[in-house]
Amino acid sequence: MKQIALNRLDELFAAISARQTLLIPQQLENGDAEFRPWSAEAKLYTGLKTSRSAKDAFFPQVENLVGFKVSEQGIELMDTRDEVQPFTLFGVRGCDARSFDILDRVFLAEPVDTFYADRRAAATVVTLACNRPETTCFCQSFGIDPSRPAGDVTCWMDAENLYWQPNTDKGRALTEALSLLEEGEEARAKRVEEDIQAVLKRLPLKDLSLDHVGAGKTKALFDRPEWAELSEACLGCGACTFVCPTCQCYDIEEFKSGGSVRRFRCWDSCMYSDFTLMSAGQPRPTQTERFRQRFMHKLVYYPDNQDGLFSCVGCGRCLVKCPIHMNIVKVINALKEGTA
Ligand code: SF4
Ligand code: SF4
Repeated sequence: MKQIALNRLDELFAAISARQTLLIPQQLENGDAEFRPWSAEAKLYTGLKTSRSAKDAFFPQVENLVGFKVSEQGIELMDTRDEVQPFTLFGVRGCDARSFDILDRVFLAEPVDTFYADRRAAATVVTLACNRPETTCFCQSFGIDPSRPAGDVTCWMDAENLYWQPNTDKGRALTEALSLLEEGEEARAKRVEEDIQAVLKRLPLKDLSLDHVGAGKTKALFDRPEWAELSEACLGCGACTFVCPTCQCYDIEEFKSGGSVRRFRCWDSCMYSDFTLMSAGQPRPTQTERFRQRFMHKLVYYPDNQDGLFSCVGCGRCLVKCPIHMNIVKVINALKEGTA
């Protein structure tokens, strides 16, 4: 274990940044927090979670996949892909770290998404234990330990120091390159971990039951009458999907610009009425069907296909962002009780 005094964090960030691009959570002018490249003026966001998740580092909201030049001679492919350089993603919380595993099973399965794969391979993920889990957090229900998050490096913070524990070859390589890290006091990091564990025991959603959802529950849940009432007020705004670290739906669009065409990948949302719209029509024509799809995917279909792993990490972002105060916890509870 290593450590560094909190008043030397900027030195640590400068040292990482001298080696490779460093992304840290930062507060934006509009009050939101996001992972952004570190600069000498940047300040580490000390709140718990970024507004959008850390998945942006691997699966950006918009990316130019390829271009085409069209002429009388034919169509010429334009390689618009930026070469991915090694980078460090610092300050990832345990929920977002688990979301990478969930996304990996989609984007790294055959056929491998090489855009995503290149970024995953280039990244060193440094996670940060959650000193102050919030009342909307329920990552524990999914077996995530926010007091000791997984990552290439795991960090803990107390009032004086950042404690730094490398876990993987990538994490050890980064650690060896940072000579300013001092020998760490493991007992102090352990105390932070224990303090977090004590907070976790008091969280209101700590006992969220998942026994009635999961792999094999399609038959039991698909036709439940609660879906209609739960989805009644849903605006189909997609806010829940855009802040979600595990949502992975996208659309491919092409745009003409001068003599060329550019093909973009953009996040999409299963909550939108034109999502999966085909020439034959919309397979989920009502908001109730679209709403059901979102939650069945996270709570039943994904676990069906991925050895029981849920596609929710309990980050609580959808609990905060939904304009009608609907969220996955309400869905889980309503399906359990049988009444919405
Ligand atoms: S469904 Fe909600 S709580 Fe679950 S991972 Fe997505 S945003 Fe977080
Ligand atoms: S954020 Fe709320 S209102 Fe908007 S699509 Fe999601 S559940 Fe519906």
